[in-house]
Amino acid sequence: MFETKGKPAGQPVRVVEDLLSEEIRDEVMSDSNPSQGILYIVSTPIGNREDMTLRALRVLKEADLVAAEDTRNTGLLLKHYQIQKPLTSYFEGNESKKKEFLLAKLKEGLRIALVSDAGTPGISDPGFRLIQLAIQHGIPVIPVPGPSAVITALSVSGLPTDAFLFEGFLPHKLKKRRELLQRLEEIRETLIFYESPHRISGALKDILEILGDREMALTRELTKVYEEVFRGKVSEIQRQIGDRKLKGEMTLVISGRTRRNLIDKAPQ
Ligand code: SAM
Repeated sequence: MFETKGKPAGQPVRVVEDLLSEEIRDEVMSDSNPSQGILYIVSTPIGNREDMTLRALRVLKEADLVAAEDTRNTGLLLKHYQIQKPLTSYFEGNESKKKEFLLAKLKEGLRIALVSDAGTPGISDPGFRLIQLAIQHGIPVIPVPGPSAVITALSVSGLPTDAFLFEGFLPHKLKKRRELLQRLEEIRETLIFYESPHRISGALKDILEILGDREMALTRELTKVYEEVFRGKVSEIQRQIGDRKLKGEMTLVISGRTRRNLIDKAPQ
């Protein structure tokens, strides 16, 4: 348990405020301006709740309204941190109608925290259109950074991180997936994709056939209890997985085109 100076020994601290020194607190509070609406883009954990940042907690506490992709999930997260806030849904299905409502609230002066189901809002989940609308209307848009699966996966992949291309979800349709991989075949930067466990075996087959037997990392359930990272050539990962039916959330990190890949792709 944490203790801070000035508190009697053995007395537990109140988590957020007491961990911040006065100086840091002033600095992190400086983006609060109650006279105008603000849209905060608040990142939340992709699994492990300890990855919630102190600033995200403070912004959620101070927000007038939380716009959440999944109000149930975000409700549970807020409950875990003992934060009570009005929640409203903002997801792909109601995005176009809801963004006008949220804009009106921002114009009234509300501080709105946008939260996605997990990770950073707008990265392969709703957010972009609301952010764009807020910018068009002169509303300050403030990032509250934190976890995102794409960066988390890249950071443990062991593949070059200096330049990378994130393509979001691989297309669901086979033809579109193959076309995309063909278009990316020449790219030298590390490639990153989100993929569903239902399509992973087909995706690995196409990756092997179209991109060649490249080095890659298949990451699964990062930061969660069953976190797993398979590293190696595409064919080695296929062998490692074998008949296992992998479940959970996955991010694929694949080597960009190198001279080595070309050798591995050459017909035997
Ligand atoms: N906005 C989120 C972010 O910043 O990470 C991504 C949202 S996208 C709808 C969800 C996809 O991210 C999942 O289908 C999976 O491909 C990937 N993902 C999310 N959590 C993950 C995790 N813990 N481990 C690996 N991949 C994950």
